[in-house]
Amino acid sequence: MPVHLPTDLLNSLEGIEGFDKESFVKLHESGEQVTSIRVNPFKSSNVRHETPDTASHVSGLTSHEKIPWSDYGYYLDSRPSFTFDPLFHAGCYYVQEASSMFLEQALKQTVDLSGPLKVLDLSAAPGGKSTHILSLITKDSLLVSNEVIRSRANILKDNILKWGCANVIVTNNDPKDFQKLESYFDVIVVDAPCSGSGLFRREPDAIKEWSEQNVMLCSQRQQRILADVLPALKDGGVLIYSTCSYSSEEDEQIVDWLRDELIINNEQLIIDPGWNIVSSGGGYRFWPDKVKGEGFFIACFRKEKSNNKGTILPKVKPDKFSRQELEVLRKYLEIDGLSFLRHGKMLRAIPESLLAEISFLAAKFRVVNCGTEIGEIIKDKLVPEHALALSNILSDAVGRTELGYEQAIQYLKKKELELPGGSMGWTVVTHKDHPLGWINKLSNRINNYYPKELRIRKD
Ligand code: SAM
Repeated sequence: MPVHLPTDLLNSLEGIEGFDKESFVKLHESGEQVTSIRVNPFKSSNVRHETPDTASHVSGLTSHEKIPWSDYGYYLDSRPSFTFDPLFHAGCYYVQEASSMFLEQALKQTVDLSGPLKVLDLSAAPGGKSTHILSLITKDSLLVSNEVIRSRANILKDNILKWGCANVIVTNNDPKDFQKLESYFDVIVVDAPCSGSGLFRREPDAIKEWSEQNVMLCSQRQQRILADVLPALKDGGVLIYSTCSYSSEEDEQIVDWLRDELIINNEQLIIDPGWNIVSSGGGYRFWPDKVKGEGFFIACFRKEKSNNKGTILPKVKPDKFSRQELEVLRKYLEIDGLSFLRHGKMLRAIPESLLAEISFLAAKFRVVNCGTEIGEIIKDKLVPEHALALSNILSDAVGRTELGYEQAIQYLKKKELELPGGSMGWTVVTHKDHPLGWINKLSNRINNYYPKELRIRKD
């Protein structure tokens, strides 16, 4: 569908580095769309393979082109129905537009990702950047994935759960709440709420919301968010700021403001000239008539080093678990290196090395989820939680039943299944070896434990 951009927007872009009105308008009017995904490195076996004709087959989706700035990104040859791909629900990949995957370069070029880090993704829903960050940091690094709008925080939780990592805490806080954490994070990512013009090609309905006045409001809100959160960045730490807006008030002018008012050093990145990304006013612009992706702006900053030692945390004792309880858990997950928490009846697993950090944060923030939900122990038996099935701490010893495509869709619709044979009790159902969730096989029936709120509702 051709997209007609507001004249005020086009006029306001005149003079910005890389803006070519004619080709920009033509691209929007062409109706051309780009589809891309990013694979989950923790679930990529049996999902991704290259073939001699240079195609990549990512969980049955075909790509003839990699996204050059991400190790995990692929352009798809066509847009499939993701809802009807079981491996989408298994968290084998995330559907994400290509330009925003440039976060990977920003992180790789400014941060040593080989050591333990504390990373805040401040405006994280629905989870594109957070799942990407989890693919890049070590398992003993901690991601705080925050979203201020409660309903969006729940969507974020679902997407994080699918990714399968235990080293993450999902919070539902206002940016100013992070002032409690002085000099705490090694990295803060602010993928700011913005006027959204960079996505008009795929979301033309949003065009009617656009106005110069809204751009100004967004710019002021971006400044407020950045001023609120910056004290939580360690000295020497890295701030990554991005928007999907073309307006310089939300992009280059924010870079200037950060440099001048918040006194933080702007970091330059090395960009392959073949990528056609435009360097502009201390940040990087993605124009959709130049790169295969949507409109995007990103800039990196480093806080000056000083002698501030950061936060020293008290030692925390893990919640007590009896030997019998640990034996129950051992049947379901690889318990080495994990600590367990009790939240009411729900048990959760977190990396042992993050116990002090997570306990410290849980006392200060509105936690939507932390680590991996395991389930409840009732009468010496675990009633396992959906998150455990999709996590990368699930034990290989847990019984599995492979489902064909039609059966997998039935399962994901939470319909009844008929699976003759196999052992009784809690079993993980898989598709192409990737866990989808739990069933409980009883002597006379099979109970489908796919979460009701996640089920496929379409026919
Ligand atoms: N980072 C996300 C991703 O990659 O999937 C996209 C984030 S989106 C561009 C901006 C987010 O900021 C939205 O989820 C929105 O709810 C949130 N937001 C809205 N108002 C905010 C505020 N005042 N402070 C912080 N975040 C806010």
